[in-house]
Amino acid sequence: MIQVEQHGPVIAIRMARRFLGKPLYWTAAYWIDGLLIDTGPAATAAELLRVLEQVSVRQIALTHGHEDHIGGLAALRRKYPNAPVYASLRTIELAKAPDRLQMQLYRKLVWGVPQPVEGLTVLEEVADVIHTQRFALRAVETPGHSQDHVAYFEPHLRWLFAGDAFIGGRDRTWAPEFDLFGVVGSLRTLALLDPERLFPGSGNVRRNPLNDINDKLLYLTGLARDVAKLDAAGIDAAEIAERLLAGDSRMSFWTQGHFSALNLIEACRSYNALVQPLPGASRRGVGAAAGAKRTKRGLSSDPSDPIR
Ligand SMILES: [Zn+2]
Repeated sequence: MIQVEQHGPVIAIRMARRFLGKPLYWTAAYWIDGLLIDTGPAATAAELLRVLEQVSVRQIALTHGHEDHIGGLAALRRKYPNAPVYASLRTIELAKAPDRLQMQLYRKLVWGVPQPVEGLTVLEEVADVIHTQRFALRAVETPGHSQDHVAYFEPHLRWLFAGDAFIGGRDRTWAPEFDLFGVVGSLRTLALLDPERLFPGSGNVRRNPLNDINDKLLYLTGLARDVAKLDAAGIDAAEIAERLLAGDSRMSFWTQGHFSALNLIEACRSYNALVQPLPGASRRGVGAAAGAKRTKRGLSSDPSDPIR
C-alpha cells in the first residue's frame, strides 16, 4: 500500500506491505524537483512507479543500501534508464550485489528481495552535491544505522532528508550490525545542521525537529550511562536488559531474534568502551575539566550543540 503527502515542493511517498489488511512497517521515498530520494522496497515498486507517473524523475539518490530503500531501484532503472543514480561507494556495492545484505527471512517477507542494479554514480563524482533545477542537496555522511549511510541536506530551505539516520521513538531492541557510536555521532551531525524540516525514512515528516533529534540523543546516551552503572555494579546483561528494556519480546519474536534487548545492551557496552572514562578516573573531574575547556573556547553557548 502507498500513501502520498505533499510538503511544499516535496512529495512524500510512504510505502508498506499489507499483512492481514494492515501495513506492516512504513518506509518512504521523497520526490523534490525531479530528484527521487530512495526507492522503497521491491514489494511496492509497481505502486511507486504509478505514483511517479504524475511527475518527472530526472535523478535518483539513495541514502543507504537496505532493502526498503533500494528495493524499488531495479524497476525505476528500467523505467528511467537515463536518470543518474547517486549513492555512496558502499551503497553502490550493495545495489550491485544485494545478497551481501544477508537478509533474514522476515526481511524478505516484509520487503521483498532487491534485484542487482549496476551503473550507479558515486557521490564523489558530483563533489557530494546533487543539483536540481531549483535546489542543491548536499550529501552528509551519517554512518551508524548502516556503514554506508548518507543524508541529504538542502541548506537554503534547511530541509533534511535523513533516511534511517533518524528513527523516532525509544529503542527497546537493536540489530547487531547497528553501531551505537556511529548512530550518536550522526544524530549530532543532524542536530548541527539545525534543520527546519526533517524527512526521515519512516515518512513521518517533522517541522522544527531539533528537539526530537536531541531527545533521541539524550535517550541513547542516557541508556548507555545506565548500562555503564549497572555493569560497574556487576549486574549481568540479561538482568540489565530486564531492568532497562523490559517488554522487548514482540519485536524479537517477529524478527526471530535479529532485534533484541540484549543486542542493545551490547551496543551500549561497545559505545561505553569508547566514550566512558577509564576505571578509577573521576567522571565528575573529567566532565568538569571538559566543561571548563569548552567554556573557555566559548562553545558552551553554541545553541546547535545539543549535548550539554
Ligand atoms: Zn535502513
